[in-house]
Amino acid sequence: MFTIGCHLSASKGFLAMGQTALSLGANTFQFFTRNPRGSKAKELDSKDVAAFLAFARENHFGTLLAHAPYTINPCSDRPEVREFARMTLADDLGRMEYLPGNLYNFHPGSHVGQGVETGISLIAETLNEILFPEQQTTVLLETMAGKGSEVGSHFEELREILNRVTLSEKIGVCLDTCHVSDGGYDIVGDLDGVLTQFDKVIGLTRLKAIHINDSKNPLGAHKDRHEKIGEGSIGTEAFARIINHPALRELPFLLETPNELPGYAAEIALLKSLRKDG
Ligand code: FE
Ligand code: FE
Ligand code: ZN
Repeated sequence: MFTIGCHLSASKGFLAMGQTALSLGANTFQFFTRNPRGSKAKELDSKDVAAFLAFARENHFGTLLAHAPYTINPCSDRPEVREFARMTLADDLGRMEYLPGNLYNFHPGSHVGQGVETGISLIAETLNEILFPEQQTTVLLETMAGKGSEVGSHFEELREILNRVTLSEKIGVCLDTCHVSDGGYDIVGDLDGVLTQFDKVIGLTRLKAIHINDSKNPLGAHKDRHEKIGEGSIGTEAFARIINHPALRELPFLLETPNELPGYAAEIALLKSLRKDG
């Protein structure tokens, strides 16, 4: 199955997101668990969640991707900032149990000058505090562009985090095409080589989702500016290879491109037209 969707606003609830996704030609979507700038999460409406789960089943939806607010920083140098990240992640993971079997993605964090080693330790510490044996959600570390002091722009850094997490089977990776290209991995010229490297360092079994974004900047720019599919430095042909690659094709693909809904519908249609059967 080709599982394809885009980031949607969660303001009208889960059933509304499901209906919007379907109207765009999607069979999954990504949503922020709360305001992306942090702050309080809305109470979950159990009727809305139940209606959505039935709707998703009827319409053969694939795995969903929840995204943590991007302002949390589990490896800040300030204890109160780390504590806020820990509380937010723990609260989100608890709420994700109402949507069992899905994915929860977060940005590992920025070490703000403490060094990558310290950053990795603090991130793993946070994960060891929030993961629980019964959880039905897989938590994903997102590959980052390496902007500022971001941790996670090298596969080795993600591997180091994985090595230190006790409930390791609860953790996976989400590969963002814009971020890895900005991070210096040549997915346009050498997709096979990048995936071989990913497999050696992290293991392809850890890869659970793809953020499918073009980039406004060239390979290795460390900028993180997403572009519409086919309008950036990655380009349509590379995306055709990515969505059809045997190691990737069964994963959920989520667009985070600068689009309103009609733009997303057009990109979903384009990617479907590039998808090869079998
Ligand atoms: Fe992200
Ligand atoms: Fe992303
Ligand atoms: Zn990004």
